[in-house]
Amino acid sequence: MKFRSKSFSLILAAVMCATLLLPSSAEAKKLKVITTLTDLASLTQEVGGDKVEVEALAKGYQDPHFVEPKPSFLLKLRNADLLVLVGLELEIGWLPPLITQSGNPRVQVGAAGYLDASQFAEILEIPQGVVTRAMGDVHPLGNPHYWLDPENARRVAKGIAGKLGELDPADSAYFQERLQDFDKRLTAAEQKWDAEMAPYRGRKVVTYHNSFTNFAKHFHLEVIGYVEPRPGIPPTPSHTIELIGLMKRENCKLVLVEPYFDLKTPNSIGSATGAKVLVYLPSVGGEKQVTNYFELFDYDIELIKKGFQ
Ligand SMILES: [Zn+2]
Repeated sequence: MKFRSKSFSLILAAVMCATLLLPSSAEAKKLKVITTLTDLASLTQEVGGDKVEVEALAKGYQDPHFVEPKPSFLLKLRNADLLVLVGLELEIGWLPPLITQSGNPRVQVGAAGYLDASQFAEILEIPQGVVTRAMGDVHPLGNPHYWLDPENARRVAKGIAGKLGELDPADSAYFQERLQDFDKRLTAAEQKWDAEMAPYRGRKVVTYHNSFTNFAKHFHLEVIGYVEPRPGIPPTPSHTIELIGLMKRENCKLVLVEPYFDLKTPNSIGSATGAKVLVYLPSVGGEKQVTNYFELFDYDIELIKKGFQ
């Protein structure tokens, strides 16, 4: 009897300790979301609010095609309830082995916690006919840099809100409310951005990689060429000469470069054509002060306006 009552009180003490050590119920309920890119993390944070804990694997200044996998990525994926990725093979060079090695059944391809955001977005430049990666083209399924159109952000945020509600039905209404609030703020921001960009409609630009297509479409700019001969293929002298000729004929005065490319070729193109060469940000976190999706457009629009002036 004595023994039993002693073990009972030990168990009781253990339970009480465990209760004290547990996070509050609100905290315990937070969904752990890992996104590949910072932009998806920003959109998830917008709709997830304080019911989610979000972290991106890649930094905003890294080339999203070629992110160096770290052991810490595995730990993050191991504990995730949801993985949100860009898709269209953008992350094919680094993400698939991490998913497998994480051993987390929740985020495996096809599982409930695996969300390919490209299904929600308008995808441009979908190749016709059979495409292989043999040519080195890193966009075999269409242009994966679709998040730089606010309309696609709206659609992706809606898809994420739906998924969060599916994984956490008790907070489904909360996610929908957050989505509506985000939608409203995005619409207001878009009106401001559209007005700022209106004077530059039809202006021609060259970009290093074709990560700018959706932005250009939304704001009615014309991308006439790329520093890369094909997506993922480094510049060649013959292509650079052709591009310089094209820019002169078309009177193109702006070259936009993603932060992860060498400026040597763009600068030589700039001096040959008199075009300005500017580093634009394809992703949140490309510069320290750009901490969310809204600030990303504020930054890039300010930069592009200066580029055209
Ligand atoms: Zn790309």
